[in-house]
Amino acid sequence: MGGKKNKNKAENTDIQQTLEASRRDFLKKAGISGAAVLSGAAAVLAGYRHEKSKNKGEFVKVLTTDNKLVKIAAEEVEGYEPGLKELQKRGREGIPGKKWVMIIDLSKCRNARKCIEACQSAHHLRPYEYHINTLVMQESVNTPAYFMPKPCQHCDNPPCVSVCPVDATFKRQDGVVLIDNERCIGCRFCIAACPYSARMFHWEEPVNAQADKDKEYDIELNVPQKKGTISKCLFSSDRLRENQLPYCVSACPNGVYYFGDENEDAVTNGTTKETVKLSELLKQNGGYRLMPELGTQPRVYYLPPKNRIFDFDQDKPREEDLII
Ligand code: SF4
Ligand code: SF4
Repeated sequence: MGGKKNKNKAENTDIQQTLEASRRDFLKKAGISGAAVLSGAAAVLAGYRHEKSKNKGEFVKVLTTDNKLVKIAAEEVEGYEPGLKELQKRGREGIPGKKWVMIIDLSKCRNARKCIEACQSAHHLRPYEYHINTLVMQESVNTPAYFMPKPCQHCDNPPCVSVCPVDATFKRQDGVVLIDNERCIGCRFCIAACPYSARMFHWEEPVNAQADKDKEYDIELNVPQKKGTISKCLFSSDRLRENQLPYCVSACPNGVYYFGDENEDAVTNGTTKETVKLSELLKQNGGYRLMPELGTQPRVYYLPPKNRIFDFDQDKPREEDLII
């Protein structure tokens, strides 16, 4: 035990010493002989962590091929762009005074999948790439099956954010959890950390890669998508900025979704456009959140699939969706 402690201490000291070393010293330790070579070496580093020094500009921590953690000036790393562009900054700030919240009424979902289609269209996803999906749920053979739309839960205590080594994914003051794909290094720690399986990895080139190539990347829309990075539900932050309901909420023909501001205690149904009190809706219908025991504190609430207005029929043609 004591030996392990001493070993860790020695390793930490070693890292610390390396961090404090001059750039010249670093180049020597990493076996790199010049600045030109450093750019190439940085490209093969196993990972990096950036941090903003209060007084000394921006630095990144990188892991060398011989497993040493070193800190170097951001401009030394090939492809790394110090600072944030305007849309990156705006996307991190969120909308002042708001606390966005979504309610999903399971008694009304009949797997119309209009929410999924609208989301995929807005975010340039393929039919098998999901920010939101409807799952078939059945607790036991004696209980009835039902459909459950599942987006990112926009947790107030999001484990995905705390594991990200480069601050690419973050929680905004208005409650939305987003990803900056200019920063994401595709390590997929966040996928492993999310208990709701809400994130997806872009294994392929984005579906509209050619058409989107000149578009400025917008964190709030996550377009253009980027191969080798993560994406997930964004609560349609670009629509919220325009004072509109999210794509999925507006597209549902069956009144499944409510969306609104917890600070105002008001949510609006995406189909009927009726605005109701959030607290009363949850109280009167037994609202609940997924896996509360984890302490993630989701901003998505569910209303139970009681008094369902549709029978469960997985094979029913989806075009016959009712308008309530
Ligand atoms: S649902 Fe998963 S991805 Fe979304 S905020 Fe929570 S932990 Fe993060
Ligand atoms: S994959 Fe996830 S954890 Fe890794 S850098 Fe990207 S957002 Fe962060």
